[in-house]
Amino acid sequence: MTTITIIPGDGIGPEIMDAALHVLDVLKPGFEYEFADAGVAALEKHGELLPAATLDSIRRNQVALKSPLTTPVGGGFSSINVALRKHFDLYANVRPAKSFPNTRSRFPTGVDLITVRENTEGMYIGEGQEVSTDGETAVLTSRVTHQGAERIVRYAFELARKTGRKKVTVVHKANILKSTSGLFLKTAREVAARYADIECNELIVDNTCMQLVMRPEQFDIIVTTNLFGDIISDLCAGLVGGLGLAPGANIGDDVAIFEAVHGSAPDIAGKGIANPCALLLGVGQMLDHVGKPELANRLRDAIVATLEARDSLTPDLGGNGNTMGFAKAIAARV
Ligand code: ATP
Repeated sequence: MTTITIIPGDGIGPEIMDAALHVLDVLKPGFEYEFADAGVAALEKHGELLPAATLDSIRRNQVALKSPLTTPVGGGFSSINVALRKHFDLYANVRPAKSFPNTRSRFPTGVDLITVRENTEGMYIGEGQEVSTDGETAVLTSRVTHQGAERIVRYAFELARKTGRKKVTVVHKANILKSTSGLFLKTAREVAARYADIECNELIVDNTCMQLVMRPEQFDIIVTTNLFGDIISDLCAGLVGGLGLAPGANIGDDVAIFEAVHGSAPDIAGKGIANPCALLLGVGQMLDHVGKPELANRLRDAIVATLEARDSLTPDLGGNGNTMGFAKAIAARV
């Protein structure tokens, strides 16, 4: 029996988590749940944003499903999501983007790609941030390591093999960022040489953005450094209908946390109208991860069928349904 740590989170978090758990009840993957607090919900109950009991639960179970968390503005709080990534060394941020019917998408068909973003290095290490005393000059440190580049590119190729995908595109800017992006590209070439069965191509990040907007169907798996991956994965979410349909996984060697990419949407919290699809697609990634791909596929097919039928869609998708009604419509099709 697999036990999953469930973090209901903040804002619309508990609403979409209830919806996800309802669909899981119908899918019957045989999970047990351990509920844990994080974010403002945890601050109010336990006086801290990320209680040790929550970290212990995730470490023990190795798999967590997490709703959006709010990091309070001010008060010196740093991002809880970043803290989780650092704590468990979740180096791979994996974001699928697939066309769905009846969404406000430029590409209602043809897109089926995964962005694999390095999650721990690059521009986001938070070191060396300085602004000169006259306020005229700002610098920061970007760090890429051979070990960090090797493991993320290897992850991308292994993912390709596991999912039957055929091509990995290494996205870089090695022509200008010769040290950091240069090392990433050189390492990626070493790794690619070990995977003769998977096609590998290289693309400069600016060209990648243009190609994604013009011909996204040419991409299969994209692997890249932290900053480029952050931007590209949101661009890809936009190609297929926006954040309401964008799931993500943060994966390390020991622990994996699955989530919706969007935030806690305080503007619609408590109204019962949040779209549960992003978290449900995160559930799909989680089912794949724990070795239940047939259930994952049934869930994804049910989401597509519900969108196709325009059954109980939430307002962000142009319907007038509610979160649980939408979840029930999906559950009825799994
Ligand atoms: P945070 O600071 O937690 O990131 P935010 O409001 O800045 O919150 P999001 O929560 O991602 O960012 O919300 C951006 C917009 O998208 C909001 O208008 C929100 O209502 C909408 N939105 C986000 N997620 C959903 C969802 N699941 N269903 C419907 N609308 C959503």
